[in-house]
Amino acid sequence: MQDAFGRRIDYLRVSVTDRCDLRCSYCMNDETRFVERKELLALEELLRLCDIFIGLGVAKLRVTGGEPLVRRNVEWLFDRLGERLGQGLQEVALTTNATQLAEFAPRLAKAGVKRVNVSLDTLDVAVFRTITRHGDLSKVVQGIEAARGCGLKVKLNCVLMKDVNEHEIPRLMAWGHKLGCDLVLIETMPMGDARSDRYLPLESALDRLSLSYHLQETDERTNGPARYFRVLETGGRLGVIAPLSRHFCETCNRVRLTSTGRLHLCLGREDGIDLREALRSGESDQAIKDRILKALAVKPQGHDFVAGGTLSAGPGAVRAMSATGG
Ligand code: SAM
Ligand code: SF4
Repeated sequence: MQDAFGRRIDYLRVSVTDRCDLRCSYCMNDETRFVERKELLALEELLRLCDIFIGLGVAKLRVTGGEPLVRRNVEWLFDRLGERLGQGLQEVALTTNATQLAEFAPRLAKAGVKRVNVSLDTLDVAVFRTITRHGDLSKVVQGIEAARGCGLKVKLNCVLMKDVNEHEIPRLMAWGHKLGCDLVLIETMPMGDARSDRYLPLESALDRLSLSYHLQETDERTNGPARYFRVLETGGRLGVIAPLSRHFCETCNRVRLTSTGRLHLCLGREDGIDLREALRSGESDQAIKDRILKALAVKPQGHDFVAGGTLSAGPGAVRAMSATGG
């Protein structure tokens, strides 16, 4: 698959639910409502769409959410996707808050998952509870350790928040690197109804880190939005994703499928098409492929994010990160 700007699209992020057992302040607010169960695609329907995308050239597939591990029977989907590995599909990955990862890690590893991204913004129990509105940090830490114990590569994603966790980055990095995990810092993006007033440009975090660490930018191409640094003191890697202060859209290689069957062409824009109706009205795989290719032709060149703003202020743009899967 290729879009109108010559970008090769071989990465699909699949959200299997918009529900979550946490309520991170930058992702949801108290009023965030979940879609009704009947709106959700069945796991079989999600698998059919994944197969269609694999047929179109998707080589990497990431299961996300909401929290993917709260979707009932999600292990079935991992098992099926694992069976597709080596037949066009090269990688099945997961993004999770890790509250249930200790339980799932062995099964995921068995299914062929090699890499897991875990959201971790703090190592302070009280701050974690505040950010997530009630979460138990110890479960997340157990989940990360269990995943490492099963041989899974773990990348820690940390959303940088002004006056919340900006001082903790050195501690998080040292902890993560000791466990063999990359740490990736992400700028808060203005999505849905969530708070975006904690925005802090990543450069300021990097400046602060540079006071104590030697950061050597690598030229590793990860096919993603992150820039990577090798940290000489820890031997680990630090990634930064700065959608607001540094655009990355020119290298975008991905599209996103929501749990209700909407295909979004850009995280930061509302453009999308509904594939659920196509599935349920009995369209053939080829007809659905044609729809996807037609949509891809209008994948936007770049996102609409504005620092400190909120997408919901824009016309018709109200999608929350929990619906799109990050
Ligand atoms: N529940 C899983 C998790 O937290 O990893 C997967 C879904 S979550 C929506 C995917 C990623 O989006 C997480 O790494 C989370 O930190 C990130 N995220 C959510 N809201 C965000 C925001 N407003 N700005 C930047 N990243 C955000
Ligand atoms: Fe849940 Fe992930 Fe959103 Fe946090 S970022 S509320 S863990 S979906």
